[in-house]
Amino acid sequence: MSETSARVRVRVAPSPTGDPHVGTAYMALFNVAWARKMGGEFLLRIEDTDRARFDPGSEQQIYDSLRWLGLTWDEGPDLGGPVGPYRQSERLETYGPVVDQLLADGHAYHCWCSPQRLADLREQRSREKSSATGYDRLCLGMTREERETLPGFSPTPVVRMLIPDDPPLTFQDAVRGEIRAPHPDDQVIRKADGFPTYHLAVVVDDHLMGVTHVVRGEEWISSTPKHLLLYQWLGWDTPEFAHMPLLRNADHSKISKRKNPAARLTWFREQGFLPEALLNFLQLMGFPPAHQDSEVASLAEFIDAFEWSKVNTVGPVFDLDKLTWLNGHYIRALPTEELAARIATHLTETGTWPSPPDPSALTLLTRATPLIRERLTLLSEALPKLAFLFAHDDDITIADDARSQLGENAPAILASAVTALSTVTPFDAASIEAALRKTLVEEMGIKPRLAFAPLRIGLTGERVSPPLFESMEVLGRTSTLTRLGRAAENLS
Ligand code: GLU
Repeated sequence: MSETSARVRVRVAPSPTGDPHVGTAYMALFNVAWARKMGGEFLLRIEDTDRARFDPGSEQQIYDSLRWLGLTWDEGPDLGGPVGPYRQSERLETYGPVVDQLLADGHAYHCWCSPQRLADLREQRSREKSSATGYDRLCLGMTREERETLPGFSPTPVVRMLIPDDPPLTFQDAVRGEIRAPHPDDQVIRKADGFPTYHLAVVVDDHLMGVTHVVRGEEWISSTPKHLLLYQWLGWDTPEFAHMPLLRNADHSKISKRKNPAARLTWFREQGFLPEALLNFLQLMGFPPAHQDSEVASLAEFIDAFEWSKVNTVGPVFDLDKLTWLNGHYIRALPTEELAARIATHLTETGTWPSPPDPSALTLLTRATPLIRERLTLLSEALPKLAFLFAHDDDITIADDARSQLGENAPAILASAVTALSTVTPFDAASIEAALRKTLVEEMGIKPRLAFAPLRIGLTGERVSPPLFESMEVLGRTSTLTRLGRAAENLS
């Protein structure tokens, strides 16, 4: 892709049709990489011409998820910019004259065929096993009055492109080299509701917004000849194209929001993935590791390494195990306070905590974070591991599977631990451990495993917990003694 021409301007152009698709972030990432590498601009355009699938909450979700990932744009509907508006529904006056010009030049024509007639045509062809596809041009060359006398007439016409016999079918693609796409159909460019279709709007907007490189998913390769024709008819320079391989499931099907929860961009945040892990993962979906010896690379390192010739051409398999592994890596690399703050934000955002934690809860979380960090792969796993710390002492109940593990001497062990711990100073993990070993293991002669199990269960209610002595230290002497004392009573 040429690096010398005009200043690079790229865009991501999502349609607000529900939760944003993870592919929007993936496309935005590769657009951002090129824009930042070249010192150009990255635009966000909202393509909301499909009114049937329009979802009013979706635009905000697009903003929130891209900002969460740090994929920020220089111009967009919310920021404005020199070539706005950046929402297609606000640009209808821009498209109208272009369609009129195409009609006047004979490159487009009105079509009054009703949806029913088009459905019947498809059905008839399939019945007759006809190889014909696309519109049969019944309306071509007719006036409204002529067409009205025939069946299958709809009073509100669409406008179609008149595709010539020899349209441009090959083009250069930055990722794939020369591509040959199939012969297009007489594409509708203005719908009966007066809105342009994607194909017209994308060309008009990319041109008027000065987009130099169209970076988008490979599903648009087959549409590119129509776009090339429009550029040619309108006398506009064509941008360069880069068609990214689509993200795929393990069976190579496309990732769809209907079938795969991980297709929804908001899902990753809900699950407790870190944005930097998801970015790194999306980067690896389309690009070899930025470093020779490690798959871990920041956005800045990716931008530095970015070249179109290295982008994958084959659809990458969306491997959640890999993402989870990366997430664990990024979690372990965060400083404790930062990790605790991320966990707190996650709990608040997902509504698990009704409001942000008060300073004492945040301090508790920060002190407890080192106990769980090594085994944490998702932020959402933190609270279940630490629930006992945030519970009231009276609310600790012993789980059935934990109770069944306890021997008859559990109450005696718990009572001796209470005595041993009441005078330990300082009340830190090392002193706690020393005191408990002395009393329970050395003096009472109980094996460590059997001695500490009742304490863990008394403290947390569970068989499995973060490290015991550290947990006692974080919980503090008063709660520790209260819990062990209560368990001794309950079990005797
Ligand atoms: N609105 C299209 C989409 O959501 C944009 C495709 C393009 O980038 O040209 O996929």
